[in-house]
Amino acid sequence: MVAPDGVRRADVLIRDGTIAAVGPEVAASSPRIVEADGLYVLPGMVDSHVHLMDPGPTEREDFPTGTAAAAAGGITTVIEHTHAHPVRTPEELREKVRYLRGRSRVDFGLAAHVWPDRIDRIALTWRAGVTFFKIFTCTTHGVPGLAGAELRRVFEAVAATGGVCLVHCEDEELTATAEASLRAAGRVDPQVLLEWRSREAEATAVSMVVDLALRTRVRATIAHVSSPGVAELVATGRARGARLAAEACPQYLLLREDEVGREGALRKFTPPARNRDGTDEAAMWNLLRDGVLTHVATDHAPSTREQKLAGDIWDAPFGLPGLDTTLALLLDAVARERIGWSDLALRYAEAPARWYGLFPRKGGLRVGADADLVLVDPGAERELRDRDVISKAGWTPYAGRRVRGRVVATFLRGREVARDGLATDRFDGEFLPGPGARGSA
Ligand SMILES: [Zn+2]
Repeated sequence: MVAPDGVRRADVLIRDGTIAAVGPEVAASSPRIVEADGLYVLPGMVDSHVHLMDPGPTEREDFPTGTAAAAAGGITTVIEHTHAHPVRTPEELREKVRYLRGRSRVDFGLAAHVWPDRIDRIALTWRAGVTFFKIFTCTTHGVPGLAGAELRRVFEAVAATGGVCLVHCEDEELTATAEASLRAAGRVDPQVLLEWRSREAEATAVSMVVDLALRTRVRATIAHVSSPGVAELVATGRARGARLAAEACPQYLLLREDEVGREGALRKFTPPARNRDGTDEAAMWNLLRDGVLTHVATDHAPSTREQKLAGDIWDAPFGLPGLDTTLALLLDAVARERIGWSDLALRYAEAPARWYGLFPRKGGLRVGADADLVLVDPGAERELRDRDVISKAGWTPYAGRRVRGRVVATFLRGREVARDGLATDRFDGEFLPGPGARGSA
C-alpha cells in the first residue's frame, strides 16, 4: 500500500464502508477477501477541478458518463462546477444537489461561482455547503471577470467566512486588447491562441491575485499553473505569508506549446500549454514533486472532436477531457521516476482533500477514513487510445502515448465501482457538503 511515508506490504480491513484497520495480516478472517498480490493499493484520487456540464450543456458531458470515466480512472471524489449553469446562491446549490441524486458513481463536492451582483450571497452560500468559490479575473466561458476593488471585496467576503477560492488568472485588459487586434488583422490560424492568452496576461493576473491574497488573508488556489514562472510568483507570495495553493494539470506537464499549430482546436485550452522542450517539462515535474505545485487536478472540460472542430479557432470551446487519463499519466510518471509513489498519493489525493476540507474522510488510507481505494498494476503497459475514453469527449490529447501502470479496480466506500477500465452500474456517489456547512451543523 502507498502511505504518505512510503510503500509497504499491508492488509486493509474495510467495515461498513470505512477503513477499520491497516497493517500486516489484519484481514485474514474477513468474510470477503480481495487478493491484491503484486498490486499497489492507493487512496482513491480526489480531483478538485472538474466540469461535468450537468445540469448544463450535457451534449459535452454529464454526471453518469463523467463519473464513469472518473471511477474507471481511479478517482473516487470530484469537486464539480459548470460555468453554463452556475451555483451562486444556497437555493441554486440545493437545487443542483437534488437534481444530482442518483446520477453520480463517485462522491462529489460542488463549487460556487461568484457573480458581481451576488457578492452579498457569499457567506450564506459557503454555509450551505459549497466546497470553494470559482473566480475569473477575465470574462471567460460567459462568466464575468473580477478585478481590482471588486475582486478585493470578494476576497474579503470569502476570507471572512473561512472559505477558499479557485482563481482562473488571465488579465482582462491584455487578453481583450490582444483579441481585438488579432481579429482586426483577420487572424484565424491556431497560433492566435498563444498571443491572445499570453504568458504576460497570465503573469499579470497572478501577480494581482497574489498581492490581494496577501492583503486580505484569503485562501486561494491559483488554477492551472502553466509554467515555472507562474509557479515562482505563487511560491514568492507563499513565502511572504499568502495562503495559496498552486494547481498542476497534466496538460502543463506533458503537452507542448507548438502542438496547437498541428492540432488546432484540439489544443485550445487556456492558459495554453507553455512547455517548449524536455527541460521545461522536467522543471514542471520537479515543482510538483517538491510541492511548489501543491496538488494535481484535471480541469476536465470535455468537448467531442466534432464540437471542437465545428468552427474556426475563435469559435471552438476551450478545454480538454482529463478524467480518463490523469491517473494513468501520473502512474507512468512514477514508472519514469518523475515523481515517487507517495508523491502521487499526496498530490492527487491527500493534499487536495486537506486544502478543500475533505480530509481525513477523503485523501488517505487511514483508519476511520472512507474506504475509497484504487488497485494498480504497476508493471502493466498499454497505449492510451481514443476508443478507450469513457468521457463523452471520446478522444484524448494523449492518444498514442505508451504508459506504464494500470488501474485494475476502484472501490468507493468499500464497494467496487470499476474494474479493468469499465465502471460498474452503481450510482452510490454522495454529495459531500463543504466545511462551511459542517461547521454550522
Ligand atoms: Zn476549469
